[in-house]
Amino acid sequence: MLDLAIIGGGPAGLTAGLYATRGGLQNVTMFEKGLPGGQITQSSEIENYPGQLEIVTGMELMDKWPQQCKKFGLEHSMNEVKHLVKEDNIFTLTLGDDSKIEAKSVLIATGSVPKPCGVKGEAEFFGRGVSTCATCDGFFYKGKDVVVIGGGDTAIEEAIFLANICKTVYIVHRRDQFRASPHEVEKMNKFENIVQILNHTTEEIIGDKMGVTGVIVKSKETGELQTLDSLGAFIFVGRDVLNQTLIQEDGSFLCDVNDSGEVIVDLSMKTSVDGLFAAGDIRINAPKQVVCAAGDGATAGIGAIAYLQ
Ligand code: FAD
Ligand code: NAP
Repeated sequence: MLDLAIIGGGPAGLTAGLYATRGGLQNVTMFEKGLPGGQITQSSEIENYPGQLEIVTGMELMDKWPQQCKKFGLEHSMNEVKHLVKEDNIFTLTLGDDSKIEAKSVLIATGSVPKPCGVKGEAEFFGRGVSTCATCDGFFYKGKDVVVIGGGDTAIEEAIFLANICKTVYIVHRRDQFRASPHEVEKMNKFENIVQILNHTTEEIIGDKMGVTGVIVKSKETGELQTLDSLGAFIFVGRDVLNQTLIQEDGSFLCDVNDSGEVIVDLSMKTSVDGLFAAGDIRINAPKQVVCAAGDGATAGIGAIAYLQ
């Protein structure tokens, strides 16, 4: 039986693993369905991780985190955790292959995934011009025109990344003010090949059998429709938390969650269920930053040690 099972290997899960193993727990496994590192590995640049003077890619930032954890004994199991239940004070994890693992305590740190924007053509052309990862797909549009949908930090950061590769980047936002921080907006304003289309809704992503050919947008002021000719549509409209693992047979959640499905925790990252912790983007009021996820992970790791003692 595991002392601590960590579900998710992003900044929160990895840091919890580091603190739990270095703090003396012997039997700690981190279940991560892909390569450890989390969603930041999709980012083209990060410049706000403390002590990191140079701008690095998310991949570079996370490169050594798994090695550091392994040094103190964290095991990595490359598996998805499908379900989590608690009976008689013991947690049971059901893995992707339906095998089961028991644990005395659990940390859920499954983070979040890109939210769909719900526009016509989005699902039809996904992977054929529609993308949620500029680092992964930007290169396919070298010298071409692309559209970015969204107005948050991610949309702007990724628009800048694309502007260095593509001819023109149209950024379409539904309001007349960006949600992103003024610093990001200021950086974007310096790019002459980023065309800002504010106060416009996205009506449809159009294409043919080869893929995307354009994006139809509508002015909220005049109602006028406009087609932006483009081979790529990059969608960055926020993220949904990944909480499916906590859903029980009767459809309820194992622990308390809010209306958006975010896990309710206290300042020690304890959930409403004894021995179950939550950390990072999945928890309520998460600032959705690497440093905050890592901080949560450290708190949860220390909390798990105290719980087991
Ligand atoms: P995640 O990083 O989402 O990690 C969760 C992990 O859990 C994933 O690896 C996933 O594969 C795994 N997982 C999910 N479900 C299961 C399951 N059932 N079983 C097993 N494994 C599972 N933050 C900053 O501070 N600065 C930035 O500049 C910045 N830029 C960003 C740019 C982009 C493009 C994106 C997408 C995010 C950015 N962020 C940035 C936000 C930051 O990446 C997140 O806040 C942070 O990664 C959250 O960490 P986490 O550990 O909670 O979750
Ligand atoms: P976000 O901050 O939630 O922004 C989502 C954007 O998409 C908003 O502008 C929103 O419009 C728009 N939107 C939402 N649904 C839409 C829809 N259906 N159609 C069209 N537009 C839609 O999400 P994010 O940019 O992914 O950022 C998530 C978190 O990560 C934030 O806390 C952010 O600060 C953080 N992050 C930080 C950095 C950094 O520090 N450099 C980088 C990336 C991300 P409205 O504004 O009208 O709501």
